[in-house]
Amino acid sequence: MTASLAELVDARLRDVKDFPSPGIVFKDVTPVLADAEVFSAVVRDMADRRRGTVDVVVGIEARGFIFGAALAHELGLGFVPVRKAGKLPGATHGLTYELEYGTATIEIHEDAFVAGARVLLVDDVLATGGTAEAACRLLEQAGAEVVAFETLVELAFLAGRERLARYDVHATVVVT
Ligand code: AMP
Repeated sequence: MTASLAELVDARLRDVKDFPSPGIVFKDVTPVLADAEVFSAVVRDMADRRRGTVDVVVGIEARGFIFGAALAHELGLGFVPVRKAGKLPGATHGLTYELEYGTATIEIHEDAFVAGARVLLVDDVLATGGTAEAACRLLEQAGAEVVAFETLVELAFLAGRERLARYDVHATVVVT
């Protein structure tokens, strides 16, 4: 029997307890990235689901850049970064959103999109969905249309998908 892509990825996720703070089980994706065949299969799988339906790939800092840039290359599309506050050099749109403790601000270049550009948003882990939801709102403020969200891992018990109900969401591995 051949293992499914989800099984291959799942076997390469490393759980790191109490990182970056007590009580969090961090899903370390670096063993997936280090495996040439599995990394490539993940990117091809994401690309095949979205080919022809999007105009640009957007990655969320920081690990969303790794998957997003590879995916943009695979699709023959451009890549746009959503960054933490203060990192982008040009004029930006920003959005501040609630975290479990405190707030965070993300930014995108004002001129990142032509109006109505169809966006594929990418990140490594969907947890509460707060970050991805904020990124979608920011992209819409910047004049883009968010078509879909691809993530390597979904922590389904945190119900992040519910906050992204308006979008087509796919996770390579769903952790229940
Ligand atoms: P959230 O806004 O709660 O969906 O968190 C998503 C962001 O935080 C993503 O950019 C993830 O990379 C990161 N993240 C949240 N929880 C985890 C986790 N348990 N393991 C790894 N990354 C996480």
